[in-house]
Amino acid sequence: MSDYKYSIDAENVNKIYFKKSNKIEALINFNIKIKKNSIYGLLGPNGAGKSTFINILGGLVKKSNGIVKICGIDIDQDSKKSKFKIGIVPQELNIDPFFSPVELLELQAGLYGIPKNKRKTEEILDNLKLTDQRNAYARTLSGGMRRRLLIAKALVHSPEMLILDEPTAGVDIDIRSSVWNYIKKINNSGTTICLTTHYLEEAEQLCDYITILNEGRVIASDSKKNLLSLISIKKVSFILKKEQLIPNSVKRFKYNLNENILNIEYDKNKTSLNEIIKLLDQEKIEFTEINTYESNLEDTFLKLIKD
Ligand code: ADP
Ligand code: MG
Repeated sequence: MSDYKYSIDAENVNKIYFKKSNKIEALINFNIKIKKNSIYGLLGPNGAGKSTFINILGGLVKKSNGIVKICGIDIDQDSKKSKFKIGIVPQELNIDPFFSPVELLELQAGLYGIPKNKRKTEEILDNLKLTDQRNAYARTLSGGMRRRLLIAKALVHSPEMLILDEPTAGVDIDIRSSVWNYIKKINNSGTTICLTTHYLEEAEQLCDYITILNEGRVIASDSKKNLLSLISIKKVSFILKKEQLIPNSVKRFKYNLNENILNIEYDKNKTSLNEIIKLLDQEKIEFTEINTYESNLEDTFLKLIKD
C-alpha cells in the first residue's frame, strides 16, 4: 500500500458549469487536505458546491482545473485506481426496489471485480445490522435500512476512505444518531471519513476537521475545536409572565422583546446562560419558559463573512 498523509489532497480546484448561456462557478480555488483516519466535514448550505466536489472525487463530474489526489493518487493520472480507494454513499436513496441486500452487494462486488471467495457480503451486512433483511426486497426496507444498505454497498471493495453526501438529510432524529454511530464505528476500524452536511450539529457531533463552503468558496477550514470557539453566539428566549420594561442591565445584550417573549443573544465565551438567568432574577423578571437555540450555520456564515 502506498504511504500517504492525506486521504484527499485538493489544490486550487475550480468547477464551472455551463448552463445554456449561464456560467455557474460551483467551486472557486477550492483547497482541502483530509488527514488519513480523520472524520472530515464539508459544511455548507444548498448550492455551496459540496456535491460537486464529491462527484469530482467519484469521477462523475470533471473539474475545470486544479489537482486532486486520492490516497496519494492523482485522479488525472490513474482515475481507476483512485476510485478504488474510496466508497461513495450518494445523497439520494436510489436503490433498485427489486434487489435484496445480498444481491445488491454481490452485484456491486462483481462490478469491482472482487472474486467470490474474497467477498465480505455477510460480514458487511452483519456490521450494518442488515442480516435479518438480507433477502428482503429493497422496496420493503425502511429509510434507515436503505441508508445502511447504501453504506454497505459503498464498502464492498474495502475502500480506505468512505465519503457520504448528506448522510442524514431528511432522516428522522433517531435514525440520524444510528447513522452517526455507524460512521464512528467505520472510522474506528481505520477508514477515513468525509461527509457533507448542512447541519452544524452533525459536524459538531462527528467531525474532527471542518471546511465551511459558501457559494463555491472556502470561508473557514479548521479543527472542530477551533471553529466552535469561533461560533460562540447563542440565543435564548424567555417567555415572561407578563409584559414589562427591560432594564438597562439586560439591554447590554443584544435583545428583542416581542409581547411577552424576550430573546437574548449572548457570547458563550463571555457569559453563561446561568448568569443571564440570575440577572433576570435580580431584576425580578419572572418567566415561565426558557428555550435555547444552538447557533446554526447561517449565524456562522454571517459571523464569518462579517469578520
Ligand atoms: P451542494 O451539494 O453544496 O448543495 P452542488 O455542488 O450540488 O451544491 O451545487 C453547486 C452549484 O452548482 C449550484 O449553484 C448548482 O445549481 C450548480 N450545479 C450543480 N450541478 C450542476 C449541473 N450538473 N449543471 C449545472 N449547474 C450545476
Ligand atoms: Mg449536495
